[in-house]
Amino acid sequence: MDFLPIFLDLRTRRAVIVGGGAVAGRKTELLLQAGAAVLVVAPVLSAELRALRDTGRIDHRAETFTPGVLDGAVVVIAATDQAAVNSAVAAAARTRGIPVNVVDDLEHSSFILPAIIDRSPVIVAVGTSGRSPVLARFVRERIEALLPPTLGRLAAFAGRWRRKVARRLVTLAERRRFWERVLSGSVATHVLEGRDAQADFELRRELKRSAQAPAAGVGEVYLIGAGPGDPDLLTLKAARLLQQADVILYDRLVPEAIVARARRDAQRIYVGKEAGNHHVTQDCINELLIEQALAGKRVCRLKGGDPFVFGRGGEELEALVRHRIPFTVVPGITAALGAAAYAGIPLTHRDHAQSVTFVTGHARESGVPIDWRQLSRPGQTVVFYMGLSQLRTIFANLAAAGAPPELPAAVVAQATLPEQQTIVGTLATLAEQVEEQAVVSPALLIVGEVVRLRATLTSDAERAPREVLASESRPPEVKSA
Ligand code: SAH
Repeated sequence: MDFLPIFLDLRTRRAVIVGGGAVAGRKTELLLQAGAAVLVVAPVLSAELRALRDTGRIDHRAETFTPGVLDGAVVVIAATDQAAVNSAVAAAARTRGIPVNVVDDLEHSSFILPAIIDRSPVIVAVGTSGRSPVLARFVRERIEALLPPTLGRLAAFAGRWRRKVARRLVTLAERRRFWERVLSGSVATHVLEGRDAQADFELRRELKRSAQAPAAGVGEVYLIGAGPGDPDLLTLKAARLLQQADVILYDRLVPEAIVARARRDAQRIYVGKEAGNHHVTQDCINELLIEQALAGKRVCRLKGGDPFVFGRGGEELEALVRHRIPFTVVPGITAALGAAAYAGIPLTHRDHAQSVTFVTGHARESGVPIDWRQLSRPGQTVVFYMGLSQLRTIFANLAAAGAPPELPAAVVAQATLPEQQTIVGTLATLAEQVEEQAVVSPALLIVGEVVRLRATLTSDAERAPREVLASESRPPEVKSA
């Protein structure tokens, strides 16, 4: 370690900045945020610094640097554009034992300023020991994305309860367990999402429970949509809760790369509909969820796509509610949206489709009969989930209800994954094309005029579906809808 990261209390302490330009201005802002009494030493000030001086927020000495200006300073930053002045500042500071930073000059600095993620009172500082500020910024961006914007509230909340909790829970181990549970569970979620009263209520309940029976406590369930396959389509919230879970129950549709994002010590349970030769029934899954949660675990129920779109999320929640187990639902990108984006098929378009319907192609999945007349009307898009094995039946039903044989249709298999296959045809041709090409499930069927747009919207997509989504240079081809 080349530098020791520390957090310095600068409130009302003297900080000196030498230099009056734009860089000095930025450093001044930073020091003011930390509550320092800033003195700027420079013959001329930028407009921004002048404004700070005129409103009394900083002190100013309109002179060139002399060591005497460092009297009483606890930190110094040299930010002039003259190397000689900067090194004089550094030398003077060092003789007086004052920490000094010379902007963009590692050699003369005794401290450097990190990239900062400010979720006050939570502060994350990132440094590369001066090797690469740009890399530090990348790292900061990644951490930034992981930390909820309202994290500061959570720290403030914990601070507010800290002493009360310490009075109720005597041992350090008890308190640690308590805070681990609270800061990663539903109480934390309430705080982060602004429901303070609910958070206080649940914390009190949890505190009472912990004081009575230190090791007990109900766990909770996160019902998480993992998206259609590409791990980059996981939401930030899903990634965060996945990290938090003690147990992961996952489906056939969730790729290994996503399950791998769970904590290393988390228990992973595969509950794919055909695990080995055993059929894991929905009742079994519900029971497992309840059993694990009642044992105090944080259980992540990870589902392909979105849990509320043909995901039986509702059924699982009903079981949890019956047992009064707390839960959180995290939406995911449903397969139809993933397939549409990665195959270049907009699901609505002003010229072609005013509505889109998601329907199950699997008759048994639906308690209500499918209205084929409705689905055959023009001006709409219909996406069939679970329809691959029923293609011929679906097309026959649509045709019988009046859909024209030349109506465009596409099958998108393993959407958003590197193996994605997209086959485009019409009601009359597609079933045969799909049989010829040995399509691998899972696959979606998209029916409607919008399928034609693929020809113009995806020439590169076929070659590199991921790049197309990420690239910002594509939109010019897309007509605004
Ligand atoms: N809850 C899921 C759907 C589960 S039903 C969601 O919101 O996406 C399972 C069906 O989803 C599959 O039969 C298939 O039609 C579709 N599906 C799921 N993942 C898919 C993928 N990566 N590519 C194409 N279809 C997919």
